[in-house]
Amino acid sequence: MEEYDFENRIVSPTEIMGDNDSDNPLRPRTLNDYIGQEKAKQNLAVFIEAARQRHESLDHVLLYGPPGLGKTTLSGIIANELNVNLRITSGPAIEKPGDLAAILTNLNEGDVLFIDEIHRISRAVEEILYPAMEDFAIDIVTGKGQMAASYHLPLPHFTLVGATTRAGQLTAPLRDRFGVSLRLELYTPEELAKIVTRSASILHIGIEPDGALEIASRSRGTPRIANRMLKRVRDFAQVLSDGVITLETAQTALERLEIDELGLDANDRRMLTAIVKFYRGGPVGLETLAAAIGEEAVTIEDVIEPYLMQIGFLNRTPRGRCITRAACLHMGFDLPDAQDGQIRFE
Ligand code: ADP
Repeated sequence: MEEYDFENRIVSPTEIMGDNDSDNPLRPRTLNDYIGQEKAKQNLAVFIEAARQRHESLDHVLLYGPPGLGKTTLSGIIANELNVNLRITSGPAIEKPGDLAAILTNLNEGDVLFIDEIHRISRAVEEILYPAMEDFAIDIVTGKGQMAASYHLPLPHFTLVGATTRAGQLTAPLRDRFGVSLRLELYTPEELAKIVTRSASILHIGIEPDGALEIASRSRGTPRIANRMLKRVRDFAQVLSDGVITLETAQTALERLEIDELGLDANDRRMLTAIVKFYRGGPVGLETLAAAIGEEAVTIEDVIEPYLMQIGFLNRTPRGRCITRAACLHMGFDLPDAQDGQIRFE
C-alpha cells in the first residue's frame, strides 16, 4: 500500500518541520494585531482591562478549538498586554506532580502559565493543579508512613491559560476552575487574507490582494496553514516569475502542490474516495475508516475531519461517517440515483 504522510502535509493544522513556530516573527504581539476571533477578542479585552484596573491577576482562561488557530499566540498576547512573563509548557511535558510544582513555584506575581494540550495532563498532576488554581497554594507531601510530612506552599497569583482541541475531553472539575472560557473558530477567507497580507509584509514578500485571497481560501480556515502556504507559494513566485504573488502564481503554485480550490490535498481526497469506494458513501465507523486508510483514528478526528465537516463534506452520524452530496459533486464522483442505493445520503 502506498505510504501517505499525514503529519507533514502542507495542509496540516499542527506544526510540521520547517514551520519554525517557536519564536516566529509572524505571531501578533497585541490584541490589535490579532486578526479575527472578534467575539473572543472583545471579551478578552474587557477582562484584561478589568484586571489591569484592579491590579489583580487575570482569571484563568481556557482556550479551545482546532490546532493552528492562534491559542499559543493569544496566551502570548495576554501576557504582553498585562506586562507579565509568559511560561509555556504542555500537558504531556508535565510528567510528575513535582514537575508542575517546580514550574509553579518559579512563577512571579501575575505571570501567565500556558499549558498546551491541557487535556493530556495526568490525574496526579491535575490534583495539584486544583488548589494551585483555586487557592494559589500547593500541598507537598514528602516521605512515607509515619515519616510523611505535608508542606503548605503559597504560590504567587498567576493566570493559567489552558489550551485544548476539545473542551469535552477535560474533566468537569478542571473545566469548572477556569473563570473564562473562549472558543476559537475557523477563520473566514477574508480574515485569512488579512493575515496573509500582514505576514507577507513582515517577510518582505510582494503580494497582490487576489493572490492573498487565493492562498486564504485554500488554507482550511487556519492561520498556521495560511502562513505556511504563503512561504511555499513565494518560492514558486520567485522561480517562475518576478517574485510577486499574483492570483495566477498562487493558483499555479497550489496546483503544483496538489492543493485544490477548497484546500483539500491528496490525503483528504483519498479518505473521501475510500468512503465511497469501500463503504458506499458510509456510514463507516471511525476505527474501520482509520484502518482502511492506514491512519490513526485521533488524527482523522482532530486533524482531517473538522474542516471536512465545516465545509459540509462529511457528516458524523451515530452509525459512523457519511459523505455528503456536496463532497461527491466536488470530487466528481457519480451522484447516485436514489434507487440504486450506491451512495446513501443521511
Ligand atoms: P495554536 O496554538 O492554536 O496551535 P498558534 O498560536 O501557534 O496556534 O498559531 C499558529 C500560527 O498562526 C502562529 O505562528 C501565528 O503566526 C499565526 N496566527 C494565529 N492566529 C493569528 C491571528 N489571529 N492573526 C495573525 N496570525 C495568527
